[in-house]
Amino acid sequence: MPQCHATMNAPLCQPIPIAADTLPAYRIRQSPRARHVSLRITPADGLVVVVPRGFDERRIPALIDAQRQWIDARLARLRTGARDEPWQRPTHIELPAVGERWALDYRPTPVPGSRVRITARPNGVLRVSGAGDSAAPLCAALRRWLKRRAKPTLTARLSALADTHGFVYRRTTIRLQRSRWGSYSTRGTISLNAMLLLVPPALVDHVLLHELCHTVHIDHGDDFAACLARLDPDAPQQRAALRQAWTAMPDWVSR
Ligand SMILES: [Zn+2]
Repeated sequence: MPQCHATMNAPLCQPIPIAADTLPAYRIRQSPRARHVSLRITPADGLVVVVPRGFDERRIPALIDAQRQWIDARLARLRTGARDEPWQRPTHIELPAVGERWALDYRPTPVPGSRVRITARPNGVLRVSGAGDSAAPLCAALRRWLKRRAKPTLTARLSALADTHGFVYRRTTIRLQRSRWGSYSTRGTISLNAMLLLVPPALVDHVLLHELCHTVHIDHGDDFAACLARLDPDAPQQRAALRQAWTAMPDWVSR
């Protein structure tokens, strides 16, 4: 059975999109060497979609839509000139969803290039060992940690809300995605984005209630809207706040 996908071609069961509805401007570049479609953002050209020869360009809007969060964040960074700033590793991580603030404690690396390890210590300290001064491995390690941290919290909150309101689903998966906050598959799996830990609890609940309503109403029709309005009267405002929240995502989670 299909799963929800954040594409423009999915009329049913669409997950909660993060970005606004119109696509950003883009250029298409055909590359004889390209084997897959790739998206590039440069100061000179903006968003460029590199496609292999013979690629059906009608598929491009959906591909862009699926990577919307990442694209919007990168374009916003270009506009503000943030690209000129050198990479600054984070000193703290705030998790509003659970009211936590973690201080990052970078340890010198005995072996250059060693795998980054992140360990939670007492008093809200996250110890980083390994190649913590290199952006890509550090960000990847932080994202892995965020997923681990998100799993028990989001799973338990979803279960509690389902019990309270009488919803049934089969399982939960926690992912880290750039295009959706959550989705529901008709197999009964609710998938939640670990980045939800970076937004306030009310917005987390909004996403969870949205997906729980999908266990009864698969599309976004009137019955679905009534279900969500009953459980989350501020749904339209929450939805707008979620879109806004993406623009405030820290660099390490969106890069
Ligand atoms: Zn939905």
